[in-house]
Amino acid sequence: MNGLKRIFNNKATTNFAKKWTRTMMTTNPNMSSSETGRLPLTTLTEDEQMMKETVSRLAKEQIAPVVREMEQLGHVKPDVLKMLFENGLMGVEVSSDYGGAGCNFMTCIQVVEEISKVCPGVGALVDIHNTLVNPVIAHYGNEEQKKKYLPLLSNSMVGSFCITEPSSGSDAFALKTVAKKDGSDYVINGSKMWISNSDLAGVFLVFANANPSAGYKGITCFIVDRDTPGFTIHKPENKLGIVCSGTCMLSFDNVRVPASAMLGEFGQGYKISISVLNEGRIGIAAQMLGCAQGCFDATIPYTLERQQFGQPIYHFQGMQHQIALIATQIEMARLLTYNAARMKEAGKPFIKEAAMAKYWASEVAQQATIKCIDWMGGVGFTKDFIQEKFYRDCKIGSIRRLNASIGWAVLGLLKILYRRNFIGIAKLDRFMKERRISN
Ligand SMILES: Cc1cc2nc3c(=O)[nH]c(=O)nc-3n(C[C@H](O)[C@H](O)[C@H](O)COP(=O)(O)OP(=O)(O)OC[C@H]3O[C@@H](n4cnc5c(N)ncnc54)[C@H](O)[C@@H]3O)c2cc1C
Repeated sequence: MNGLKRIFNNKATTNFAKKWTRTMMTTNPNMSSSETGRLPLTTLTEDEQMMKETVSRLAKEQIAPVVREMEQLGHVKPDVLKMLFENGLMGVEVSSDYGGAGCNFMTCIQVVEEISKVCPGVGALVDIHNTLVNPVIAHYGNEEQKKKYLPLLSNSMVGSFCITEPSSGSDAFALKTVAKKDGSDYVINGSKMWISNSDLAGVFLVFANANPSAGYKGITCFIVDRDTPGFTIHKPENKLGIVCSGTCMLSFDNVRVPASAMLGEFGQGYKISISVLNEGRIGIAAQMLGCAQGCFDATIPYTLERQQFGQPIYHFQGMQHQIALIATQIEMARLLTYNAARMKEAGKPFIKEAAMAKYWASEVAQQATIKCIDWMGGVGFTKDFIQEKFYRDCKIGSIRRLNASIGWAVLGLLKILYRRNFIGIAKLDRFMKERRISN
């Protein structure tokens, strides 16, 4: 009793108690969550749920049967691509005025997650197209560009987002590709590396420096069509994972584009890439979340069937501890991912949340797929089962768009600055730019 009195007399505790009372008074504990408008993070609207279920069914029926074939081919099959376009999965957020499905960002995240549960390679294609390419044109394109490209991107043409170069990866704004003004045109010279979807893409968003003397403030985004003279797409890289997602090097040898191909303002390329890569990180988180969940779901039935010492291996407590831990970690990744998506939708700052979701989902995907292989025993080590593919596919999560070590540097700083209220979003944006953190 005395101990409790001591605790309540403590000044910090009193402050906490006051704060708690205030919170309770503003949030009537007798009100249901729907009355307060505070629903669980995993709650989806009817439309979002319907889309999730439809995509889950399409992925199981039309992607799953050809996953291994696409891995051997090294590209996404035309039938699968057609299915994605026909079902609105390549223009999820694009307004119906421009031929898209007109859904919200959360729906986009659900689409990427559901497809990645079956094939993270196809998930990567859908993610990059929907969370990088379409938003750049939708947010920064002029009316003419939107009318020309958004209907194509939503219905028939794949897009690529091209910033990385052989000598500029994490330090993306050190890019060397230049765009020189020549009359009313721009002439692009240089190369890009690791460009996803480029095996199939019809349109490429290319970041080039149009005023190198201004440093990163010269970086400008241009729309380059696949058949532009001087533009070469090299053969796809021979990768560890997401093999069906084509990743190629691109060369620009005096590639001439009209001034009307400039996307957004002159010198605003760095702003465009920073803003879109932030939301792109939530897309990668969804991809990794799907990868982890897909592998987990494919593995648990095996542990229920496989008998050792006279019982299914699932029934051993040592197994259940591990399974519960991974299930919890996957759920944590889901909560971080959905929270970041809802923050973005609500128009709130979400840089920190997106980076955390991407980091955690990528880590969990690695842990989950390793564990799933362990739980399968010897057969998990063979190509007869899908677990080894998920294991390879998840590795990309910690490499693309803010890798783990740089991610921690950003998060560490953000934590200090945000918590102490030292910076607002504008300063944070400047911090990211100064450190050239975009990729
Ligand atoms: C399959 C695949 C698809 C991709 N798709 C695209 C795409 O569509 N478009 C596109 O533009 N790019 C794409 N990329 C490129 C990707 O974004 C880069 O690979 C990524 O940014 C890392 O750059 P890098 O490979 O040059 O590694 P580097 O930058 O050379 O990094 C190597 C290592 O150094 C560490 N490091 C670097 N700087 C720091 C630092 N300041 N502090 C601590 N550690 C540091 C990194 O963490 C990493 O571990 C893709 C890459 C792959 C593999």
